[in-house]
Amino acid sequence: MSDSPVLPERIAGLHDLATDLWWVWHRDAREVFRRLDYKVWRLTAHNPVRMLRLVAPERLAAAAADPAFLALYDEAMRQLQSARAGEQTWWAERSDMGRSRPIAYFSAEFALHQSLPIYAGGLGVLAGDHCKEASDLGLPFVGVGFMYPQGYFHQSVTADGWQEEIYEQINWENAATQPARAADGSELVIAVPLGNRTVLVSVWQVKLGGISLYLMDTNLPENAPWDRELSARLYGGDRETRVQQEIILGIGGVRILRALGYEPAVWHLNEGHAGFVVLERIRELLEQGRSFEEAHEEVRRTTVFTTHTPVPAGHDAFPFHMVETHLAGCWGGLGAHREDFLALGRYDNGSGTLFNMTALAMRSAAGVNAVSQLHGEVTREMWAPLIEELPRQDEPVKAVTNGVHLTNWLSLELTRTLDKYLPADWRAHHDDPAIWEAVRSIPDEVLWETREKMRSYMYNFVRERIRERWVRENIAPPRVLAGGTFLGQHALTIGFARRMTMYKRPDLIFHDPDRLARLLNDPKRPVQIVFAGKAHPADEGGKHALQGIYRRALDPRFGGRIAFVEDYDLHVAHYLVQGCDVWLNNPRKPLEASGTSGMKAAANGVLNVSIGDGWWPEGFAGGNGWLIDPGVEHGDPSAQDAADADALYRLLENEVVPAFYDRDDHDVPHRWVGMVKESIRTVAPQFCTRRMLKEYVERMYMPAFEHSMGKGK
Ligand SMILES: *Cc1c(COP(=O)(O)O)cnc(C)c1O
Repeated sequence: MSDSPVLPERIAGLHDLATDLWWVWHRDAREVFRRLDYKVWRLTAHNPVRMLRLVAPERLAAAAADPAFLALYDEAMRQLQSARAGEQTWWAERSDMGRSRPIAYFSAEFALHQSLPIYAGGLGVLAGDHCKEASDLGLPFVGVGFMYPQGYFHQSVTADGWQEEIYEQINWENAATQPARAADGSELVIAVPLGNRTVLVSVWQVKLGGISLYLMDTNLPENAPWDRELSARLYGGDRETRVQQEIILGIGGVRILRALGYEPAVWHLNEGHAGFVVLERIRELLEQGRSFEEAHEEVRRTTVFTTHTPVPAGHDAFPFHMVETHLAGCWGGLGAHREDFLALGRYDNGSGTLFNMTALAMRSAAGVNAVSQLHGEVTREMWAPLIEELPRQDEPVKAVTNGVHLTNWLSLELTRTLDKYLPADWRAHHDDPAIWEAVRSIPDEVLWETREKMRSYMYNFVRERIRERWVRENIAPPRVLAGGTFLGQHALTIGFARRMTMYKRPDLIFHDPDRLARLLNDPKRPVQIVFAGKAHPADEGGKHALQGIYRRALDPRFGGRIAFVEDYDLHVAHYLVQGCDVWLNNPRKPLEASGTSGMKAAANGVLNVSIGDGWWPEGFAGGNGWLIDPGVEHGDPSAQDAADADALYRLLENEVVPAFYDRDDHDVPHRWVGMVKESIRTVAPQFCTRRMLKEYVERMYMPAFEHSMGKGK
């Protein structure tokens, strides 16, 4: 952030509060900015850095003289300082490992806040939530990734339903980032050999309470134009760009940490993208005089790897010549062992022998995990030939089921209700199922009123989006219609918001259009659907599916009860996972490794209607949502689609709609509210990042810590 606004002395800390994304998941801190100027808070889509540049000096002066505001401000600042100190945290109590040697967490994307569009979807959201929780638990932790100056694209849909991708340069003045500084105070720049040249990388620091993230950017004037573009966009390039990005992420990432003086005890590779960390660390150890075998073993004992993809083709793999071309300058002391290193990535997943990033990571990590129990089984089967050659261990591939950062995803409205009925310290112990028993004691009317408010916020958000577009672009009516002009505020609302890609089957609910139309148009028991989601720029199938949905939204036979909200991101996701009544998830089994949007929804009392894939077989407990169960598994995809669609319609017709519209004299649906309670009670403590990260610590990080700190065997 450049020209910092002049703040009144008494509230000068607002700048610090705004530039540390810790505020994102802390209610008191958010309240500071909301109170400061609610209009500007809304106008900036909740971006305090930008806010501080827009708020009128008179507002700031008034706030600095308002005792109520100051009390709030002081409390938020106190909490921030305490988070940074990391004292009295779970880690401090749990472990004698101290905070001197961190867990280094590498990920190609991080979803921290909508103002920093360096994420595409689920992988980024998981990484972002993981980091937020690491701060909460007081872990010694540092994140490494990319600062894509053009980020991931913004989605705009034409009147004909075709997705257009708009890339916007991030405005640094409005971003909660600062240049990372070396020990001597200068802005950090590191050099990464790429092919036969050297690429310079600058580094941005993002603060997150108790931890920091370091994000790399190649857009420096010293670099050639094509190198400046290397980190411009997330998933924007071809294979060549991809392998070069991954070299920078892995090798550059290690170098940044060294330059900043970090000595990580644990190296966590979130997905195979960061696999080249292994190369750089082996090289370092060889240059310190170790043999290749010793170096690889040392790296293995201290590396943790999480795989996220149940599809063989979804794992990054490159032809050997491509890898060798771009690694040409990276070997250094590893030069004599090139073949040994390349062998670590050698794998044939069915399309020939390639240098496979997942194979490299699996052979180089003592802790490997999948992201749900079912995904664990799929992974063990898919990688069976490779697992056989690994050193024998009890659990070569563990499963640590994903979670979501609860205080980040729970709606403010619901949080207020929980504050009234749950034990006072529920936040501090939210991964304890016993704390959530008290959900049962919330009166049905109260919880229903909360849910109705949550739906109305979502409804208003969708309407406001349409209005803004209409004002801004004076767009033709079809797009207004597709935006959801005819949605009702009290109708049963089904949400489907996720990446538009074929395996998630976004159009499954249209399998029998007449049956769907009857369901939507029932005058006494109306149903509506809100869709959102981006298709990957190169995913033609996903774009066609999106277009299909968009056209359906315009089709009068569905009565205007289908809407498509453009530009799905964290901001849109918050409204939808909180405000819908039902969360629909119908991937083609077993292709959804985990899925996390359903967890966000369930914790907010939005009932899942889901295929038994990913996390849902663990989450579904009968009575806390519904399982789409066709009763049979077909080898033939179109027969499976038909069976799944039929099972979905039957659920909606016979169970979901009747339960929602079964009201008492005061219009309260007791049966429904009973399920809402079950959903919150069972899912919140189990599928949160608090449970997840503690599990990572115990099962994945600890063995590596013990090795690094010389405290183990
Ligand atoms: C939670 C989330 C996702 C991941 O959702 P899935 O259920 O895994 O598809 C993707 N994008 C955004 C913006 C999210 O908030």
